[in-house]
Amino acid sequence: MIGPPGSGKTMLAKRLAGVLPPLSFTEAIETTKIHSIAGMLPPGAGLVRGRPFRAPHHTVSDAGLIGGGSGMPRPGEASLAHHGVLFLDELPEFPRNVLEMLRQPLEDASITIARANLTLCFPSSFMLVAAMNPCPCGFNGDATRECRCTPGIIQRYLSKISGPLLDRIDIHVEVPAVPFKELRGQEAAEPSSAIRERVSRARQTQETRGFINARLPVRLLRRHCELDEAAERTLEMAVRRLGLSARAHDRILKVARTIADLGGAHGVSAKHIAEAVQYRSLDRNYWT
Ligand SMILES: [Zn+2]
Repeated sequence: MIGPPGSGKTMLAKRLAGVLPPLSFTEAIETTKIHSIAGMLPPGAGLVRGRPFRAPHHTVSDAGLIGGGSGMPRPGEASLAHHGVLFLDELPEFPRNVLEMLRQPLEDASITIARANLTLCFPSSFMLVAAMNPCPCGFNGDATRECRCTPGIIQRYLSKISGPLLDRIDIHVEVPAVPFKELRGQEAAEPSSAIRERVSRARQTQETRGFINARLPVRLLRRHCELDEAAERTLEMAVRRLGLSARAHDRILKVARTIADLGGAHGVSAKHIAEAVQYRSLDRNYWT
């Protein structure tokens, strides 16, 4: 999420954990085990029932984020967020080497820690949610406040996040500051419970294919994301115009499949592809 300070990025991230389906029994046991070996369960506590929401500060050490430390290696935030949400606020403030370490869990859903005398593997299947300002002062692109950053400063700020990490993030959205008068009349907003129901249904559809969309293997992608001719053309055009990597192309397909699943659609149409492409705002605006 890219937006100025105070636009509600942190609140949105917290709500996200609330619209995910409840933990299954197996998931609850896995999550509980990790919290238990990390010494984070009070004595007599039962199963962890809610999806974890972890929000480490940008001063976190690599061991704190990924796991390890002196003595017996302990799970880090990336494992404590297993089956839940890992939220990194002010993403460009995290040291680059720490961020780069997230690439393994994002690919493999686990973290391997090798020591001279033992190798440990901690599960870490989390949803990464990150937030950042559009520039160091926070007001680049804002209609009401003036940004005082030079293009060079903005470029340096954005380039703290590497292309390979960005490539592994499916959805980039801009979160503009909401003018006060638009904050009124929010009664009509859909409650989290209704959204959670829709998410649960979409997940069930995905499970009948054997994988949730985020974990769909590339070789099965085309079988489950059947595109009609217009969708195929839309995708081709987006890839060419934005110069997308093969990985970004696959991500767009998966996100489009998810949008179709949320709407209960069987096939993936041009409008699903177009919406998924909209969610690549960093490819569209910032890195060109
Ligand atoms: Zn600025």
